Amino acid sequence: MKRSFTIAVLSGDGIGKEIVPEGVKVLEAIGRLHGLAFNFKEAIVGGGAIDLHGRPLPDETLAVAKAADVVLLGAVGGPKWDGLDSSIRPEKALLGLREQLGLYANLRPARLFPQLIDASTLKREVIEGTDLLVVRELTGGIYFGEPRGIKPYRNEERGINTEVYTTKEIARIAKVAFEAARKRRRKVCSVFGDILSDEAAMLTGSIGMLPSASLGGRTAMYEPIHGSAPDIAGQNKANPLATILSVAMMLNYSFDQEKAADEIEHAVLGVLDQGYRTADIASPGTKLVGTKEMGELVIKQLMKA
Ligand code: NAD
Repeated sequence: MKRSFTIAVLSGDGIGKEIVPEGVKVLEAIGRLHGLAFNFKEAIVGGGAIDLHGRPLPDETLAVAKAADVVLLGAVGGPKWDGLDSSIRPEKALLGLREQLGLYANLRPARLFPQLIDASTLKREVIEGTDLLVVRELTGGIYFGEPRGIKPYRNEERGINTEVYTTKEIARIAKVAFEAARKRRRKVCSVFGDILSDEAAMLTGSIGMLPSASLGGRTAMYEPIHGSAPDIAGQNKANPLATILSVAMMLNYSFDQEKAADEIEHAVLGVLDQGYRTADIASPGTKLVGTKEMGELVIKQLMKA
């Protein structure tokens, strides 16, 4: 079995720069425990890449991603780039990466950790036991459909978006969903609208807890589902657990290291059991910690196990 892996590290903007290093540290720690070697290749993406190269996904970054076994991505975007034309905005980098890497299936588990039941705004009896997997199509649909745009129309303007899927696109994503359901409760609910996957964050208490995997091509991509959170960026306040749980998904789906992935999840649960919380998941009586401390606590817990 392969024991050495190349990981393209694309931390991106805002809190991406704070949470991704914690994910990398967890990988280094689990690597030491399981005899796995990781070769990290950093590359620039999103707003930072626009500032430096005029494009959110420079060719060099794409080349690093394509040559890697997997991509670990933080988040892109921020107010600085909000006014740019949509063709070169930071989030174009995500669409470009998905398209170029052939990533059509996004897996987003939304599981309520029992320790966080009070962090959700929903009532305990409504959310207790929540454990669902959102399987989201990434390369078809409204993000790519043509015609699109805002055009002059009679004496005013008219906006157009087109939601379009081919038979092949629907069949392959349905296959991923049905195969995943076979290993779970054998139920698939088909809904169109990717807003639901963001709304799942409300169930789990915080968007800072939700990991994701994008699969389909040779190189898979792992990232938290949240954005660059400009409101808390640079303040050591961001929750790194979504990134750390994305790293667990990476070990499971791309590196066939189910045991290592389980150990990371257990370490996260252990830290939550001890009452440590970042601000987004804090509730009365818990111990408030920052991004770095949360990462360190997970590693300490991993080493104890
Ligand atoms: P966001 O997910 O960045 O933030 C929404 C809210 O959740 C904010 O209050 C933020 O502080 C909080 N939050 C998010 N992640 C957190 C974490 N790990 N820990 C604690 N709190 C967290 O969404 P937004 O505010 O709509 O977007 C901000 C920027 O991010 C925009 O430029 C947007 O385009 C971009 N964005 C990027 C991605 C991505 O890179 N995948 C996804 C969504 C939004």
